[in-house]
Amino acid sequence: MLKFASIGSGSRGNGLIVESATGRILLDCGFSLKETEHRLNKLDCPPDSLDGIVVSHEHGDHITGVGRLSRKYKLPVWITVGTYNAAKDNRFYQTYFFKADDTLTVGDLTIQPFAVPHDASEPCQFVFSSNQQSLGVLTDTGHITPIIIERLSQMNALLLEYNYDEHLLVTGKYPYNLKQRVGGKYGHLENNQSTSLMSQIDCSHLQCLVAMHLSENNNDSEKVNALLENLSFLQVVEKYISSQKDGFNWKIIENKG
Ligand SMILES: [Zn+2]
Ligand SMILES: [Zn+2]
Repeated sequence: MLKFASIGSGSRGNGLIVESATGRILLDCGFSLKETEHRLNKLDCPPDSLDGIVVSHEHGDHITGVGRLSRKYKLPVWITVGTYNAAKDNRFYQTYFFKADDTLTVGDLTIQPFAVPHDASEPCQFVFSSNQQSLGVLTDTGHITPIIIERLSQMNALLLEYNYDEHLLVTGKYPYNLKQRVGGKYGHLENNQSTSLMSQIDCSHLQCLVAMHLSENNNDSEKVNALLENLSFLQVVEKYISSQKDGFNWKIIENKG
């Protein structure tokens, strides 16, 4: 069994619950303690039911709430050394270090981090699996690398960044430096980069594709919905967008034997 839900996705805060039969973790926590508690409880996931928190990188929208949540509910934190050293608050209840290409286990949940090009100290993204079922997560990535294509092939579910639309970014109100950062090789994925990735990976097992981390200033959910619908080879795949306000509700990967 593998299921997942988002407590919110975007530059004002991220958090993803991933659960197997005997493991339940939160990937990233970019909200205040009170907001995190509220959002977790709304999904019937009280904070003390978590086995721990996995951190992708030290940007505030992913790590702001990790320290306080960890201390209050005595939750262990899995993190890279680079991210730990770059974090403003790293007084975790308990810390376990990992590196890209390690394999972590929490109950019967397996977590495989892989390195991504992003302007942080030691950023990773993840494949979660349990009992032959797999979930790939890719956000906060500036460009597609061979390891990304390799790791995200043959997933049952994929949570993929659709951060910005090139035209909206270029013509938008962001200052020049920020435009360069977001659109650079170590920034975020443009809608067409995400679309292109979908044609480069093996989607034969895919049941569900969720667009993540949409920029509120430089993207438009109608454009992203149109791009998702245009993935004609994924006609039977369930596709939707995760929002900043509500994330998305629980999704269970079906066992198709
Ligand atoms: Zn982010
Ligand atoms: Zn980031």
